[in-house]
Amino acid sequence: MQGSSDSSDLWNLTLQHSPIGMALVAPDGRLLRVNPAMGDMLGYDVAELSQRGFQEITHPDDLADDLALVQRCLAGDLDSFRLRKRYLHRDGRVVWGDLSAALVRGADGTPLHFISQILDVTEQQEQQERLTAANADLERERQVLEAIFETVGVGLLLIGRDGRYERMNRRHAETMLLAFPDGHDGMAGQLGAVYQLDGRTPMTQEEMPSYRATQGEEFDDYAYWVGDDPLTRSAYSTSARQVRSAAGEKLGAALAYQDITDLMRAMQVRDEFVSSVSHELRTPLTSVLGYLEIIGSRQDLPADVTAQLRVVQRNAARLETLVSDLLHVGELGEGRLPLQRDAVDLAAVVRHAVEAARALASRSGVTLELDAPEHLGALLDEQRIRQVVDNLLSNAVKYSRSGGSVSVALRRGEDSDELEVRDTGIGIAPGEVDHVFDRFFRGGEALQQQIPGTGLGLNIVGSIVSAHGGEVSLSSELGVGSTFRVTLPHRDG
Ligand code: ADP
Repeated sequence: MQGSSDSSDLWNLTLQHSPIGMALVAPDGRLLRVNPAMGDMLGYDVAELSQRGFQEITHPDDLADDLALVQRCLAGDLDSFRLRKRYLHRDGRVVWGDLSAALVRGADGTPLHFISQILDVTEQQEQQERLTAANADLERERQVLEAIFETVGVGLLLIGRDGRYERMNRRHAETMLLAFPDGHDGMAGQLGAVYQLDGRTPMTQEEMPSYRATQGEEFDDYAYWVGDDPLTRSAYSTSARQVRSAAGEKLGAALAYQDITDLMRAMQVRDEFVSSVSHELRTPLTSVLGYLEIIGSRQDLPADVTAQLRVVQRNAARLETLVSDLLHVGELGEGRLPLQRDAVDLAAVVRHAVEAARALASRSGVTLELDAPEHLGALLDEQRIRQVVDNLLSNAVKYSRSGGSVSVALRRGEDSDELEVRDTGIGIAPGEVDHVFDRFFRGGEALQQQIPGTGLGLNIVGSIVSAHGGEVSLSSELGVGSTFRVTLPHRDG
């Protein structure tokens, strides 16, 4: 008896102090005894909970499973069972429990009661659910990205830190066949049928976009031709970005390849059109100007006819300038710009250009100043350089407002001569500064104010200066003014 009372005390003590919910449950489901941990778990005090049926505190959706297991125990199929199930807290919320139940039978085998232990796993369960939801979100996001990766109209390539190709989409795989008809070894920088924009010069390894990206470069709009056959080749414009981990560690690079073949072909057609039209226009225009000069030199013309003739002459001369600009651009497009270098007084060239611009400047209410040495000997193509100065000057005046000023400065530097044309005109927006030297580019402000132009002048300026081995730079502020700086390196005769 002593032993039995001892074990009953021990049982009571365990029941009382266990951190796990415990209950003695009658075969019909009544809770014969419950411990404080169980009460706490479900929001009842122990007395309230006793005598209720476990059916009452079980979530209706889990009741059938629980009952089925209880029946199987009572039927003798099982001695015990384990079930993760939902209980109902007194305030209506769900408490997840990990239930272990064992059936205790009397000496004759009659079921006496179940000993149930219930571990509160609500937090674990919620965490699990959060994790599952987060995984589902991630998976959904992965699927979306995968779909975008494969459907965008741009070739995409991911390169690892070591330059190894890690992933590419279908579109880029197609480009690879064109660029590397004999196969690719999966490393950045392999040479293939990839050519510079002239369509002839093969790219070196250092110029290959994948190689540049592997070297840590980031770039946009890097254009070139891919494919050996001029009829079927494609042009691409590539951008690259470095990929880093959240901690800033370099993981590799991502490249996007956009097919710009149609655009390039359209530009080719445009250039060919411009070139042939300007050739066709030049001959009749030369004849018109010649005859105008002959008529203009006659002394027997009425005064009003002479005046009208001057207007015709001025406009014909403008047309001639336009046509020669167009011809020029056509030649540049074909990569031809022959220079006729001679010993020239650059100061005189600039002075004459400034004098020629004075009439237009004063008509526009713009003051024109020149700061130049008396003489400045240089070896250059006088006609072309005059064209540079004329273009910069006419722009400075054209894009100035009445009351503005244009200052021209010429200096002899140590290694080069420097020409600066500064105006207090409308200025150029920061996003346009890099484009003003592009062929046919016209600034937003120029368009908005309907200032006439073709967008060719600065392109010609840039080409002439670079043919002389020099550079043009530009600093400008919208609404404040612009400064163009030309440097022409010295050359020994
Ligand atoms: P055009 O003057 O015929 O448009 P240009 O090639 O000479 O062509 O110039 C390209 C563009 O650059 C112009 O349309 C204008 O937007 C801008 N630009 C050039 N020079 C100036 C300047 N001095 N001030 C403000 N904008 C300028």
